[in-house]
Amino acid sequence: MKQQVSIVELFNLSKAALMAVGTPEPAAVSVARSIGSAERDGSASHGIFRLPGYVASIKSGKVDPTADPEISVLSAGTICCDAKRGLAPYALERAIPRLIEATNANGIAALVLRNSAHFSALWQEVEALSDAGLVGLACTTYLPAVAPFGARQKLFGTNPLAFAWPRPGAPPLVFDMATAARALGDVQLAAQRGETLPAGIGQDKFGVPTTNPDEILAGSLLPFGGYKGAAISLMIELLAGALLGQRTSLGTASADNADGGPPPRGELVIGINPEVFSSGSGWQEEAEKLLATLEALPGVRLPGACRHARRAETEHVLVDERLLEKVRQLAAVSA
Ligand code: NDP
Repeated sequence: MKQQVSIVELFNLSKAALMAVGTPEPAAVSVARSIGSAERDGSASHGIFRLPGYVASIKSGKVDPTADPEISVLSAGTICCDAKRGLAPYALERAIPRLIEATNANGIAALVLRNSAHFSALWQEVEALSDAGLVGLACTTYLPAVAPFGARQKLFGTNPLAFAWPRPGAPPLVFDMATAARALGDVQLAAQRGETLPAGIGQDKFGVPTTNPDEILAGSLLPFGGYKGAAISLMIELLAGALLGQRTSLGTASADNADGGPPPRGELVIGINPEVFSSGSGWQEEAEKLLATLEALPGVRLPGACRHARRAETEHVLVDERLLEKVRQLAAVSA
């Protein structure tokens, strides 16, 4: 059974539940905003469903909600934010303005985010860049959940990749996707609801294809797009893991306490200034010709179009009653 609840209430419940376990208000607001905006955009896998995990990881001591992110400059175009095992949305809120400054100053810049507990959708960081007229790219690792192409066991994280491209007088072009055939949160939600998944999402612990979400959770997800998706997932392991002086998903698992919450790890965010890269020679007009042609094709829509349409009109969402009850209990502790 589902219950209708407003985005504002989900924000308030999230904030209260996080503050109940010692999260200072600014960090609680950052995470609550991230949860509320995921729900508003129709991304249930990264909305209120994630709150119990955040709370569990704070209670177990894996995540430090009081951490004060430390920002430093590694080189002219390389900003580092050490989240110190703190909550990623808060660290990102502090670090992204510095990345925007560095991108404007250098044409291209990177944010090296370290030790951050990331449990959210990545569009938020790349859209912050496109809102500033920049191109954004972001990726992060997770815990092993996805089998490399041809393998029976999980090794890669669900390793999301997000991209945003600024458009004149229109929402940015944004895609934000797990490199698994299905986001882990969606498989967990399907398991909770007793649903069957389409073929091609995962395999059981013996490597046998299955549509049963419980068997996939005990086994492994598959990468999207076969060996090509697996290659992108591998790239993200290297870019957001080893390259940043952080662990890959495999290494993260060896240090994780399995409390169900987000393990602190790395994220790479890249900003590009299109005016610099194109020498100001009509980059936007050239892009718009392609995007307008694409949008006009029958049966085609731009990635991000659904998200932005929902964003403009959603004030309430339907949430599983048992989840809502759990969240209300977590929030009541501080009420
Ligand atoms: P989806 O498969 O739902 O969507 C992926 C992208 O494809 C979206 O940008 C979507 O745009 C676009 N898209 C979907 N259908 C079409 C279509 N018919 N035509 C054109 N574009 C389309 O996302 P995932 O389930 O893979 O990912 C969900 C979220 O999980 C992401 O936000 C990701 O950041 C997050 N995640 C976070 C992790 C973490 O550790 N923090 C780990 C893994 C995932 P639109 O939104 O408009 O539908």
